[in-house]
Amino acid sequence: MRTVTSKQGSKSKRTKKRKQITKAALEKRVWTVFSKYIRHRDALNQGTPGVSAKCVTCKESHPLKGGSLHAGHFISRTVRTIKFDECNVHAQCQGCNYRQSGEQGIHAKYVIDTYGIDVFNKLVQERINHLKIKKKPELTRKELLDIEDKYLSLLKQYESKYPMFLKKSKK
Ligand SMILES: [Zn+2]
Repeated sequence: MRTVTSKQGSKSKRTKKRKQITKAALEKRVWTVFSKYIRHRDALNQGTPGVSAKCVTCKESHPLKGGSLHAGHFISRTVRTIKFDECNVHAQCQGCNYRQSGEQGIHAKYVIDTYGIDVFNKLVQERINHLKIKKKPELTRKELLDIEDKYLSLLKQYESKYPMFLKKSKK
């Protein structure tokens, strides 16, 4: 067993925390980062970086801050292999995300229009496979940490491009 001998700086605390938390808590934390990335990506793609994004199903605009804008799944997040797939998750308002399986029909159209039928088929196939197998695949701790690192770094790139967003989130 290794002993943490470094100073109690925030960085070493974070590293320690990363090792100790349960996998479920880690997955939740990674989702927070990924979800934030998705909302900012869509805001950027729609020409309103750092400010707001339109729900991909009802097209209503929502501010990035405040909680009314979610990152909604086309294929359910219970299919772990595509829970963090960028083509499967988009900016969605709270109403659409919670209503009728996240307005899956309209979301399907958005996926086809945006990425093409092959991506749509691939995502649906993941769901079909998931229904068939008894032991559902889980993401490993390493996979989750890699996803977190990837999206933290992408968010950092956004923050350097759009500093107004960084200032607000630090408050
Ligand atoms: Zn909506």
